[in-house]
Amino acid sequence: MSFEARFCLSCGSGLHLLTQEEDSGPKERLRCAACGWTHWNNPTPVLAAVIECSDQGGRVLLARNAAWPGRLFALITGFMEAGETPQEGIAREIAEETSLQVQQLSLIGVYDFQRMNQIIIAYHALAHGEVRLSPELAEYKLFAPPDIRCWRAGTGYALADWLRSRGHEPQFIELPPKNPTVS
Ligand SMILES: [Zn+2]
Repeated sequence: MSFEARFCLSCGSGLHLLTQEEDSGPKERLRCAACGWTHWNNPTPVLAAVIECSDQGGRVLLARNAAWPGRLFALITGFMEAGETPQEGIAREIAEETSLQVQQLSLIGVYDFQRMNQIIIAYHALAHGEVRLSPELAEYKLFAPPDIRCWRAGTGYALADWLRSRGHEPQFIELPPKNPTVS
């Protein structure tokens, strides 16, 4: 779920849904009646990587988050941090979560993930090294690109676009009822 503010970050008063005139017309948002502060609730940037292992025959590493139900494997993702570029951020996440070293990065695309109020910036990463997972990941698998199945949300669309760019028509699976979330 996206972050729901309850108190003003400026003065600490309670926030309320208040309508106010904005550039696009009247708009209801969580606002502070005391000082006028607005909780804009802008989407949070999340970085994601399709990791192609150059020393594993070009297979793609997908990992299962320890907190997820079921056995779903997904792209490596993480929040962008202050003071880093998206490229630095995804290389850091890949190193932290898999220990792999990135040789080359290229942007796949930018995708909305409205359910989580996130914007996903997805890269293809050519990487190598010995995989050692961080504790937040339970296991990983290396997939030949034609064997990959994509889900119809967020990172799944990034994976599908990358597969198409490699000449593989993506195949989709339906998600189980309890959707995984970007970590
Ligand atoms: Zn306030």
